[in-house]
Amino acid sequence: MTPPNASASSGVPAVFLDRDGTLIEDRGDLREPAEAVFFAETVPALRRLHEHFRLIIVTNQPGVSTGELTREEVDRVNAHVVQHLARAGVVITAVYFCPHQRSENCACIKPKPFFLQQAAREHNLDLRRSFVIGDHPHDIELARAAGSTGVYVLTGHGLSHRADLSADILVAKNIGEAADLVLELRRR
Ligand SMILES: [Zn+2]
Repeated sequence: MTPPNASASSGVPAVFLDRDGTLIEDRGDLREPAEAVFFAETVPALRRLHEHFRLIIVTNQPGVSTGELTREEVDRVNAHVVQHLARAGVVITAVYFCPHQRSENCACIKPKPFFLQQAAREHNLDLRRSFVIGDHPHDIELARAAGSTGVYVLTGHGLSHRADLSADILVAKNIGEAADLVLELRRR
């Protein structure tokens, strides 16, 4: 007899990455690829993770809904982030973004696990062996909602929201330390 979770557990693990404040500096609504500034730790961290995990970017971009940004601008910046990482030998499997404001109560805004579940179906992922790295408490709630493990980074908004987190949350100084933590947890 096949256990009910056989298909889920046969999937591959992923690391879901927030974009602004986690991979690149948080500089508000980014319209141009040139506005994306990578943290020094981002490329080496993703190179280490990339050997063991699918890497997927999930980002909220409410500026689209408020009219500050167009979808095309977000797509262009996302494409630039993916290309920059590809040139460094890091493959990003997919990028998902929510264009809505929280007041719209859409299905896809973090911390709702909508895009993680979509990614799991589209890329045969095992969410229970997957991680979420982000600089907002929503990223940690997102991980919990998906059955994954969250790692909170203190870059971006990280420092200012740290007090909102419960004490049992995994906290890393930046994406580099977060990658090391994820790799250590994977080995256990
Ligand atoms: Zn949405």
